[in-house]
Amino acid sequence: MAPIDGPVLEVLRTKLVGRLSFYEDLGIRLFYRDRESALPSKTPIPASSEFLEETPLPKPVHKPAPLPKLAPASHPPKPAPLSVPAGLSLFESVDRIAGDTLLKIREDLGECTRCKLHKARHTIVYGDGNPKADLVFVGEGPGADEDAQGLPFVGRAGKLLTQMIEAMGLQRREVYICNVVKCRPPENRTPEKDEVATCSPYLLRQLDAISPKVIVCLGSVAAQTLLQTNRGISHFRGEWIEFRGKKLLATYHPAYLLRNPSAKSEVWKDLQKVMAELGLEVRRTRRS
Ligand code: URA
Repeated sequence: MAPIDGPVLEVLRTKLVGRLSFYEDLGIRLFYRDRESALPSKTPIPASSEFLEETPLPKPVHKPAPLPKLAPASHPPKPAPLSVPAGLSLFESVDRIAGDTLLKIREDLGECTRCKLHKARHTIVYGDGNPKADLVFVGEGPGADEDAQGLPFVGRAGKLLTQMIEAMGLQRREVYICNVVKCRPPENRTPEKDEVATCSPYLLRQLDAISPKVIVCLGSVAAQTLLQTNRGISHFRGEWIEFRGKKLLATYHPAYLLRNPSAKSEVWKDLQKVMAELGLEVRRTRRS
């Protein structure tokens, strides 16, 4: 085998250091794998308990009990729905369109001017990834980097999301990534109700067309929009919820994790649930 030269080695080293520090942020300090055959038989095992404790593995869901539909919050009484025009719920108002495809939905969206977000946007950020993905991540809306490049999650939060996906043993191109609103809200403000109401039917069509096994909502805007609730995400984060016949799980937004790195371990637990559901190998880890 040809020796790896200096610059390549340096790139690999930088990548490895980045990956390890990400795992460390998640609370994973040491990786365990069975190296018995490769190690000398008398390798001393450090006495520290950090080598002994293992994070319990989540149990894969084989025959899941029926998933809860999200119960409306009891306090305050009757939360107002987030975005639905009077009458029909978001679910009922958007029927599945037989034979719908991501391409057709994109064509229907066109150079959209349906809401005020079009005025300041540079590029519509439609979505990116595998049109037949088992796993879809839904974010809130494009930021400045996404608006410039026309791709979702390519800024700082996006880099973290990519690391999260890779920590699950997947490549970014294997999943699908999109947002509730397709145009950047000015100053990265939260999308407003009318903007969400205008754009979310396209999101629903995307989800129906892809028909993934699992949908992961990143942050409260995605979760509240799809679940039609104004309950705080902390009430249902990490729980499986039924959504149009699919399994949906809400977790914290990567931008929140950039501000609150200590929440990464919660998100990692959520992602491990998703991995178990998708039959992805859950890496055995030992905590320090
Ligand atoms: N935040 C989001 O919610 N979506 C993006 O595409 C980028 C950042």
